[in-house]
Amino acid sequence: MMITESPTPMDQISVEKIKAAIRDIPDFPKPGILFKDITTVLRDPILFQHMTDYFYHLLKDKNIQYVVGIESRGFILGCPLAYRLGAGFVPIRKTGKLPGMVERHEYDLEYGSDIVEIHKDAIEPNARVVLIDDLLATGGTAAASSTLLKRLDVDLVSILFMIELGFLNGMEKLPKEVNTHAMITY
Ligand code: AMP
Repeated sequence: MMITESPTPMDQISVEKIKAAIRDIPDFPKPGILFKDITTVLRDPILFQHMTDYFYHLLKDKNIQYVVGIESRGFILGCPLAYRLGAGFVPIRKTGKLPGMVERHEYDLEYGSDIVEIHKDAIEPNARVVLIDDLLATGGTAAASSTLLKRLDVDLVSILFMIELGFLNGMEKLPKEVNTHAMITY
């Protein structure tokens, strides 16, 4: 399949095609969860490219210096976006994975808690940053990641998602002063 350059903003038809390619897997990873599987989008070169272009066109005039991706599907979306924007890529990881000095934040899950970490020296103060993840559910992960970025004193320009589960109201947990957007809302 030939990969074409798409210099113009993505139209609604492309978003609908991406939406149609997302696969629902019931009861994964545990009973009661309807898992949104995006591997069926990523494996299609045109859809993958259009998804990256969609985010690129939202950000291209915003002088973004770093794309921060949340482990692990935020890496898959964030890396090609950083490359396209000419920005650096910085990972936020689950605990114990980053080798250098880290800033960490623990947050509550439905049962138990989780920890996210970022290298303390990954981003200089006031740098213009976008945070990206594949899916916003309750908002706990993205809110915790925003807290880490605040501690590094960066200029968080935008928080972006491929998918938002709107009925869980995750956006309400995110900082009010930051622009937030999801490509697809259920
Ligand atoms: P939350 O902290 O509740 O907003 O959960 C967001 C994180 O969990 C993201 O990194 C998602 O990849 C993952 N996640 C939560 N719910 C789902 C779902 N229904 N399908 C796929 N991934 C999910």
